Amino acid sequence: MGPARILNVDDYGPGRYARSKMLRQFGFEVQEAANGTEALLKVANKPDVVLLDINMPDLDGLEVCRRIKGNPATSNIIVLHLSASKVNSIDRVIGLNNGADSYLTEPIEPEVLAATVRALIRARRAEDALRRSNQDLRELTHLLSHDLREPLRAITVYAELLDKSFGGRLNAAERQYLDFTLSGARHMNEVIEGVLVFSRTMHEGFVAVDVPAGDALRAACSELELSLKESGAQVSVGSLPVVRANMAALTRVFSNLLSNSVKYAGDAAPRISITAEAVGGSCKFTVRDHGIGIEPEYHRAIFEPFKRLHGKEIAGVGIGLSLCRRLIEAQGGQMWVESEAGQGSSFFFTLPQAGPDERAGGPTDLASRRSAQ
Ligand code: ADP
Repeated sequence: MGPARILNVDDYGPGRYARSKMLRQFGFEVQEAANGTEALLKVANKPDVVLLDINMPDLDGLEVCRRIKGNPATSNIIVLHLSASKVNSIDRVIGLNNGADSYLTEPIEPEVLAATVRALIRARRAEDALRRSNQDLRELTHLLSHDLREPLRAITVYAELLDKSFGGRLNAAERQYLDFTLSGARHMNEVIEGVLVFSRTMHEGFVAVDVPAGDALRAACSELELSLKESGAQVSVGSLPVVRANMAALTRVFSNLLSNSVKYAGDAAPRISITAEAVGGSCKFTVRDHGIGIEPEYHRAIFEPFKRLHGKEIAGVGIGLSLCRRLIEAQGGQMWVESEAGQGSSFFFTLPQAGPDERAGGPTDLASRRSAQ
């Protein structure tokens, strides 16, 4: 990697010259622009960092930054605002809100400027590497899952055909071999589907709006109608508020939690209650069951992808809770569990209360949101 490239933008010639000279002494490669218009032309050369004076006669630095960050071709370039005085602290706020990466006020020690530029570049490179590896991982997951699906489908279909044609004539050992093949193939199919659902949901953009939580719960209950009925589940529901959330995501959370309460109910019919209360500016939901419970040492692990505390005796691939937690976090909430073995489990999650909140209003990409944390 060559020296970091800096575009030094300042309408005051002597100051610009001195700064460029100093930056070159620190090993940076420096280009100059004497005004905002020239700066916007030169960002096309993709410098690593733009040092941007705020006060300039044609386009001021704040507007130049807004345009750099507003253009997808240049939005990734680091902008470091330099201000000649401390007088306008509001400029600092506007600059950072416009997307500037940092802001320094004169007088700036040369070492401080050089170290700040290096730190910003380090952070940006780490972020870029993370974004690339996220993207690679996503493509690999997609490729693997799709490439595995076809041969697996063939194994399942032909094993089922064998079962149909010869199933009645197999001896005990042969019967067992075929059963292992079939159940292994079916489980692998569930895992692949799980990986695909997980990866798709993580990269789905969704919009949060005011959602009556009761509607999401009703949708989840109707998805699970059959298993709730078959298991004889009793579901009691308190008064549920309107929250700032995404309907599909909230439905999935309820659906995963309810289906777990049914799966892990133990010997008795499932008894499940869903309640909510206001806590600060959030709503805290509780999904409580009276099932087999979870020993405290596993409370963290169960939220990790593909972590299960059970074998094949209970169906599942171990992505439900990790997906739930990520969905809740992406909507600005938190999720956790309280439980003891044999004492049932209470799953809690929070969501912002309904109402205007610009943070929750836009599309959310779970992957980028996580990598930004
Ligand atoms: P899956 O149910 O497919 O295994 P999850 O991610 O939903 O995946 O759950 C992870 C693990 O947490 C489960 O394997 C189970 O051991 C435990 N678990 C989840 N929900 C409950 C519950 N309501 N009661 C007891 N154990 C639970």
